[in-house]
Amino acid sequence: MSQFRKKIVVSLYKKIVNNSFRLAMPVSAQKTYTNSRKGFVRLLTRIKWGIGMGILSLWVESLTYEYEILKSCTHHKSPRSKCKKCQESCKKNAISFINGIPSINSEQCTQCGDCISACTVGAVAGIFPARTVKNHQLVITGDQAPATKELLVYYKKGIKEIVYDGELSEEWRQSIEDTNQTLHLLGEPSFTLMNGKMDATTIEMTRRELFFSWKKEAKTMMVNMAPAKWRFNQEDLQLAKYYPNHQFAEVTLDASKCTLCKACEILCPHECLKITENSFVINTQSCSVCHLCEDICPEKVLTVTEKVSELKVLNLPVVTKVCSTCGQNFKTLTESDEICVPCEKRKELLAIY
Ligand code: SF4
Ligand code: SF4
Repeated sequence: MSQFRKKIVVSLYKKIVNNSFRLAMPVSAQKTYTNSRKGFVRLLTRIKWGIGMGILSLWVESLTYEYEILKSCTHHKSPRSKCKKCQESCKKNAISFINGIPSINSEQCTQCGDCISACTVGAVAGIFPARTVKNHQLVITGDQAPATKELLVYYKKGIKEIVYDGELSEEWRQSIEDTNQTLHLLGEPSFTLMNGKMDATTIEMTRRELFFSWKKEAKTMMVNMAPAKWRFNQEDLQLAKYYPNHQFAEVTLDASKCTLCKACEILCPHECLKITENSFVINTQSCSVCHLCEDICPEKVLTVTEKVSELKVLNLPVVTKVCSTCGQNFKTLTESDEICVPCEKRKELLAIY
């Protein structure tokens, strides 16, 4: 927290504490307030003031925050989830699994934002470290490089140049290189990398621009003073909304073994899989490569691979057949199937025992 914000927080706390003492007066003292109409109005005013202060106190508390893992984490959805992306991304070893659920140790967490970028389902809530952007250029100010996902979002927001002064750290070089490779696959020009100080003419602003800049500053300050939880921005990294004609994953299915149990459809957080009476549609445009469908499929017939390509929607027809063993109607993806799933499983069990 900046010194300025710290000062504001401390002074607000002092005010809250003082007023809490005044409100916590003995009952006898309160009676004097209720003895006359004027006193009663004064008491009501004090109560209103107290409620306002209570809300203010909650707001002040929420200005400070810690990263947290939300219930949308794949481990909360299924104990079969094997995802460890947040833990693998954390250079400070601040994330551990407790009873199969990831947990962030706030003592070790430096709020670098790596786990927010790494989480495939936006389940790490927190605020990204601030980046410096001037005249639509991303200015490198430290060694902490953004993940490819973050740079791809900046790119679509119109920031296509990166400026640095002096040496470019290996972390930044790697991140820019990876992002440029992805941009190439997306059919977009690369980021332009520029070395050197921003010269005076670049940062010089007209009075009008300066005015807008002040307005922007004021807005930034308001944003900074807003309760932290209102500003949690993990959802901003869903690449699907920025690149609607591409997919970042490929999901393949062994149709001959799928039993149409719908487990994948029910658990997919982005509704990429849809099973109806007549079809099984796989649309990976919004797939975030969480691997949950792969992990929970009881038949192990789904494979998810991270791959950038043009959007392809897979539409497999579902056919209705009559089981040759029990005579019941059943649904399948394979025209040549003759036996329904329960009869097939029974046959397998009988063969074992
Ligand atoms: S979870 Fe597996 S078996 Fe069930 S419908 Fe999905 S792909 Fe088919
Ligand atoms: S399709 Fe599978 S890997 Fe992709 S978001 Fe859905 S559950 Fe996750």
